[in-house]
Amino acid sequence: MTIEIKRVTICKKTFKRRDIYEYRYDGCTRHRKGTVAGILKEELNIPHISTGEIFRKNIKEKTELGKIATQYADEGKLVPDEITNKMVKNRLNEEDCKNGFILDGYPRNLAQAEELDNILSEKNEKLNLVVYLTTPTEEIVERVMARRECPKCKKVYNMILNKPKNGEICDDCGVQLITRADDTEEKLKTRLNIFFTQTQPVMDFYKTKGIVREEEVSVAINRLGTDAAKDIVSYLKNK
Ligand SMILES: [Zn+2]
Repeated sequence: MTIEIKRVTICKKTFKRRDIYEYRYDGCTRHRKGTVAGILKEELNIPHISTGEIFRKNIKEKTELGKIATQYADEGKLVPDEITNKMVKNRLNEEDCKNGFILDGYPRNLAQAEELDNILSEKNEKLNLVVYLTTPTEEIVERVMARRECPKCKKVYNMILNKPKNGEICDDCGVQLITRADDTEEKLKTRLNIFFTQTQPVMDFYKTKGIVREEEVSVAINRLGTDAAKDIVSYLKNK
């Protein structure tokens, strides 16, 4: 539960605190997720740990886990939970996680959530909060449809949020931008459905623990990631 959060202040390093941050997966929610996590990191003075980052680090440093992950990626396969879990565990054992952390992109499924519980209980710790950012599907669709990519340098633009300077031309290469083949409404909806199917059991798991905080982030209600982040921070500091 959230009891320990009450005692959190930035300067009191001895206090234990475990924060987890869950998110919706597609479109510009990625960007919002980054916004929210960035603010929480600054305000709470705890590391922001994303699985993407952990993967890149392990691969770059050619750790045993990194080598295994590379093999799977080379074969175009998903990295098994077991490998991901071990990478997360190693990361959480690092010094800077002593006073808490923000997890981003993990756990993605129920098996990972259960393993995370095991990892933390071995350390006599537990999660304090799961933030679930939601955005109406129509908004996600609209934003993903506005996504464009430079075929040359692969830079990603968004015709609503992050427009190139001239028309649909890459700022750096002067090349006509394209819509990625994956960015069709139908494919997006399939991805969202897969996401919800995987996420629902994770959210149910945390709801029974009473630690879920759902935040709607939506242009329609004029609530941005920064607004959500501010509320979460004041909740964590005052609770
Ligand atoms: Zn370019």
